[in-house]
Order: sequence, then C-alpha cells, then structure tokens
Amino acid sequence: MKAALIDLKTERNRRIPNPDQIIVAGAGIAGLTLALALSEKGFDVQIFEKSATLAEIGAGLQLSPNATRLLDRLGVLERLKYASVEPQAICLQDGTSGEKLLHFPIGNQAKERWGAPYIVCHRADLQNALLTQARSRPNIAIQLQSAVTQHKADAGGILVRVQYHDRIEEHRGALLVGADGVWSNMRTAMSDTDRARYTGTIAWRSSVSVDQLPESFKGLLPAGTNVVAWTGANAHLIAYPIRSGQVINFVAVAPDRQDGRRWNLQIDPENISQNFIREFAAWHQGIRDMMRAGRPWTPWRLFEMKKCRFKIEDRLVLIGDAAHAMTPYAAQGAAMAIEDGCALAAALGTDGAKWDSALASFSSARTHRITAVVRRGALNHLAYHAKGPMALARNIVLRNRPVEKFVKGFDWLYGFDAEGPFDQK
Ligand SMILES: Cc1cc2nc3c(=O)[nH]c(=O)nc-3n(C[C@H](O)[C@H](O)[C@H](O)COP(=O)(O)OP(=O)(O)OC[C@H]3O[C@@H](n4cnc5c(N)ncnc54)[C@H](O)[C@@H]3O)c2cc1C
Repeated sequence: MKAALIDLKTERNRRIPNPDQIIVAGAGIAGLTLALALSEKGFDVQIFEKSATLAEIGAGLQLSPNATRLLDRLGVLERLKYASVEPQAICLQDGTSGEKLLHFPIGNQAKERWGAPYIVCHRADLQNALLTQARSRPNIAIQLQSAVTQHKADAGGILVRVQYHDRIEEHRGALLVGADGVWSNMRTAMSDTDRARYTGTIAWRSSVSVDQLPESFKGLLPAGTNVVAWTGANAHLIAYPIRSGQVINFVAVAPDRQDGRRWNLQIDPENISQNFIREFAAWHQGIRDMMRAGRPWTPWRLFEMKKCRFKIEDRLVLIGDAAHAMTPYAAQGAAMAIEDGCALAAALGTDGAKWDSALASFSSARTHRITAVVRRGALNHLAYHAKGPMALARNIVLRNRPVEKFVKGFDWLYGFDAEGPFDQK
C-alpha cells in the first residue's frame, strides 16, 4: 500500500527573518514537534527541510501515552483522530504454535492510568498532522527543498548555510537544532565515529487490506482491535490496524541473511519475498499464508547509534534519531523524537536567555531517559527473539505473571511527562 504523499509545494518564507529565531534542520517528527512546542512559547522558528515530498511506504507507528499527551497539548492529536486507531489490547503470541501468551489491556487503561491514549497510525499521517498544525502558526516558517549544509557559531548566534535549489543561502539564528534523522549531517560532521551502526537485522514491512487477509491468519487474531506481536527464534512479527482500521500494518524483524555486516549491499528484489518467507519457515501456517498475501515486503535495515549525544556545540543541539537512533523493539523512536522536541522547548522557555545552561540541563535529563528506553528495547529484543529453554521460560512467565504487574512495569515509560520540571527527571 502506498502512503499518501504529503503535498509540499515549494514554499518560501513570508516572515521577515528574526536573528533571534531558532533554526531547525529537518521537518520530520522531531523537527515539526519542536517547532510547534517552541511556537507555543513565543519563539520564532525557521525550519529547513531538504525533501520536496515526504512519504514512506507501509510504515506504521505505535504511539504510547508519553507521546500522545504531548501531541494532544500541541493540538495534533485531534488532527490525527480520523487517521489513527486506538487498540484495545497488546497481545503476545507464540509464532510457531500461535498460542496466546499475554493479553495486556491498553485501550481504557492508557487514558485512565497514564492520562492519554495509546494509538497506532501511519507515519505519513502523523507527519501530515504535525505539518498542517505547523502551517497554521504564524511564527513558524517552513522552507522546503532546502538542505542545511554548514553552520558557524559567533558571538551573535549562529550562521547557517542552506542549499536551496542551485544556490546557497545564509540565515542567522540564535540556535541551530539538528533534527535531520539517523543520517544526520550535523552529527557526522563532528566525528566519524558517531555514525549510526548497522545492527545486521532487517525490518520487513507490508500492509494488507483487512478483506484480503487469508482465513488461516484471521483465525490467529484475538477478538477485537489489537496490536499483536508473535515471538520466535531470532525473529518477531507485529501487526496492527492503521488508516482507520481498514488496513493491517505488518513489521517482521529478522536477521539479515544476505550479509549482515555489509549493510549497503542492494537487496535483490527477485529474491526478496522468498528469502524473507524462508526465515519464517517454521512458523505457524496462518502467518506464512499472510506473508505470501502481504507481498511486496519492503526491507528496512535497522541502524542504531552507539551513544546518545544531544549537545554538540554551544549553539547546536541534536534531537530525535539524529541524537539517538534506536532499534524498534520498544516502539519508542518517534515517541522519543516527540518527547525531545517538547522537552527542548520547555528548557528554552524556562531558561532561554542562558542557552548553555538550558541545553546542558536538557541534554542531561534526556540522556538519562533515552538510556532507560534503549535498555528496555534491548530487553524486549531478548524476550521476543528467545529460543530453546529461554523461549520456554519466557512463555511460562508471560502466561503466569499477573497482568497488573506488567501494567505497573510501564508506569515509568508511559506515565512520563517530558514537559515536567527538569530537576525531577
Ligand atoms: C521498522 C521501524 C519501526 C518503527 N516503529 C516505531 C513505533 O512503533 N513507534 C515509534 O515511536 N517509533 C518507531 N520507529 C522509529 C521512528 O520511525 C523514528 O525514530 C522517527 O521517525 C525519527 O524521527 P526524526 O524526526 O528524528 O527523524 P526523521 O523522521 O527521519 O526526519 C528527519 C528529517 O530531516 C530531513 N533532513 C535530513 N538531512 C537534512 C538536512 N541536511 N537539511 C534539512 N533537512 C534534512 C529529512 O529529509 C527528514 O525529513 C520505527 C522505526 C523503524 C525503522
């Protein structure tokens, strides 16, 4: 299924540039959220985005209450309402036998316990909602087809060079925020060792209309609208409805058998489906039937940053994947990008006159949070991909541990408010 193209007609600034403005590189999830949060605090924001169209194929996102509470405050959740789905539960099942292991109620619980909904949506729909909201704010300017290429700090702030079509422009601001994603130029320009590392695993993504799902697969689905995760040796599969529930988004994560170390090898499209389905040969028949129905599967090689790094220079800070690209096992990459944006705006709003101390407290609080989330992702990885006796032990724990204990274990993650006081984080 092809994602809707967000119509990004080349637009130029209509606002008179303010040398105290905050310049943001990248109109992804982190950059747009930051711009909205800063705009609420009265800052002028200039975003430069290198692309002319923003689209991603078959990419769904789970957004937990720690992210949706922030989207709600920014007026974005309302815009996302008709394109997103609120699942009733998160269900864990065994990928080979299909056995149900855990039913974690999330629908009402999220709102009652953590104060905001748990939703699933398409990434393009989230980006579209953020973009539409940003365009409605007079103190946010967005310039497209504009790649930030260089920057230079001086006593008055920061001078930023932007490649706009075939010419170079210079823009002045008080601060530059690199929200330019996993391949961040701003990060790698500082040090070659800061590049994202290939994990040797691939996330295979596809989406299938509900009416085209094979019956054998439908039999594996628990009743209701849910996020379902199937676990298996070295692999897992996640399914959830997006686009108002008409389409099921699938993400299957498995080792890269082609050459786990050489990430830049082209994946041969002829062999894609065969190689991929072979990885799941021992899995339940219903899942294999669905995998054949789900063609094409788009491979997405997974990268992660070894070290989380926010503050780069006095007038340059990174947020989102640029600072801490992470594997998707905790489903928190976009949520952390949203938290970063709101937390940075809160720090600047509180201590905006003192850039250095605002950025230092932001960086230390966020590094602490990201480290904990990455640790949770690593734990999920172990649990999802366990095999042999480890898998048996996992299944016993999942079957027998009271659900309330699992729910409690998410309080620190889903109950977190990134805009809360910094000294409490
Ligand atoms: C398989 C998979 C599943 C995932 N599932 C989830 C999930 O369920 N829940 C969740 O929360 N997260 C999930 N994530 C993670 C999530 O998608 C990312 O963490 C998130 O999109 C990062 O947002 P960002 O704004 O930092 O970067 P991006 O969204 O990558 O945005 C960066 C932007 O910067 C622009 N740019 C780049 N260079 C420049 C430049 N020099 N000048 C100007 N602009 C530039 C790019 O064009 C782009 O628009 C998943 C990721 C993967 C791979």
